[in-house]
Amino acid sequence: MSDSVLEPHVRPPNRIYPDNNILFLDFDGVLNSDNWIWSHSGPDCRDDDFAHIDPSRVEIVNRIVDEFNCKVVISSAWRVLFNLSDLRSGLRGKGATFWNRIVDKTDQRGPIRGEEIARYSEKYPDNKIVILDDSTDMGRMMPFLVRTDASTGIVEADIDRVRAVLNSQRN
Ligand SMILES: [Mg+2]
Repeated sequence: MSDSVLEPHVRPPNRIYPDNNILFLDFDGVLNSDNWIWSHSGPDCRDDDFAHIDPSRVEIVNRIVDEFNCKVVISSAWRVLFNLSDLRSGLRGKGATFWNRIVDKTDQRGPIRGEEIARYSEKYPDNKIVILDDSTDMGRMMPFLVRTDASTGIVEADIDRVRAVLNSQRN
């Protein structure tokens, strides 16, 4: 076996993107599209709490978390419906390799999502931030938003936009 083939657990740390990037993750409009929701709302889907999550969109977030070494904080309203453990296992069931990178969720003191994210960020001021969301109620956190299109959910081109937001916070 070539020395260059390293198992993931012995992979050298990512020196370009250190382990202090936090990805705030919305679900609806990011991990699915409007069409996906409509087509996965029938009786066939009743037994699957996470039927609205599109594995092909999850795969793009897998790549983002991996490439930019992110920890994930759930800012989606789904955090009200499910505890952290259920969010991890539900997303894992849809192909999320980042399930064990989900470290927390934002508070529920609303009504502006950006304020919930801001409060969380202020607890960890050394972290760099990126927000994936299809809405714009981000207040002063707007510079950190990568706004997705709810008609498609997250797309590959959004990876470059995440990179730009994180790079803008590097000295
Ligand atoms: Mg949304």
